[in-house]
Amino acid sequence: MPLLPMGPMLRHARANRYGIAAYNMIDFNSARAIIDGATALDAPMIVQVSVKTVKHWGAKHVATWVRMLANDAPVPVALHLDHCTDVDVIRRCIDAGWTSVMFDGSALPFAENLATSQQVYALTEAAGIGLEAEIGAIGGVEDDKVVNDDQSRLANFDECVAFVRDMPNLAVFAPAIGTAHGFYKGEAKIAYDLLDRITQTISIPIALHGGTGLTEEQFHRCIALGCGKVNISTMHKSLFIDGFINLRAEKPKMAEPLPFIDAQHAAMKADVMQCIRIFGSDGRAQAALAA
Ligand SMILES: [Zn+2]
Repeated sequence: MPLLPMGPMLRHARANRYGIAAYNMIDFNSARAIIDGATALDAPMIVQVSVKTVKHWGAKHVATWVRMLANDAPVPVALHLDHCTDVDVIRRCIDAGWTSVMFDGSALPFAENLATSQQVYALTEAAGIGLEAEIGAIGGVEDDKVVNDDQSRLANFDECVAFVRDMPNLAVFAPAIGTAHGFYKGEAKIAYDLLDRITQTISIPIALHGGTGLTEEQFHRCIALGCGKVNISTMHKSLFIDGFINLRAEKPKMAEPLPFIDAQHAAMKADVMQCIRIFGSDGRAQAALAA
């Protein structure tokens, strides 16, 4: 089916207390593994792309690959731009056919983040696509941005309420709640009371960033509290590399590349399917589509 905006499916996920996986694709094979995993379990899926990856391949090529794969898939797929600080890149992706984008103004002072998020909101509303916006500072490494532990800061509750007030149709809201990008050093310390307070007041689905390395219990608790979108990037990147390396270690002399592509695909798809089951989005494709 054609690429869809993620807002309606995320609202369905939040209302029915399951999470839609949002995987950061790397190349065509990775996008294929993500969508094949979703198809195998009849799950809605968000294929998201980092700004670095968009710049590497070009927005048009990425959109063409994902559109082509989504067109042949029986499940709803959204194409989303992850953490973008540059409004020009957002415009380019909208023009290339992205069905949702994230503006990340978390490094800006609150008023400036709000003003720019509202500008991008106007763009996405005009294009009929979804917007994700962030406040607070999520720790870890995302693209080339490093947020150290002492720089990461939880979202402020009153700022969250003020932030979303004039953006009622925001597809998903990303307040920093203690999760981080990359692999965790210890167990992630999630601010459940803040998340609970936010979701009791704000009905917009919440994005859970930094999903790699969270425990099943942490996923379940966050989803139960209103996280409708669950981001997985680091694990996917790691399997993308390991899929090749592990087969090479087993078959040092093999010169045919397609089995390596298949091994990579299998490793990524298995992880996608495992996460879909944990997030409870298996079997939800048709209901999410009707939402
Ligand atoms: Zn993130």
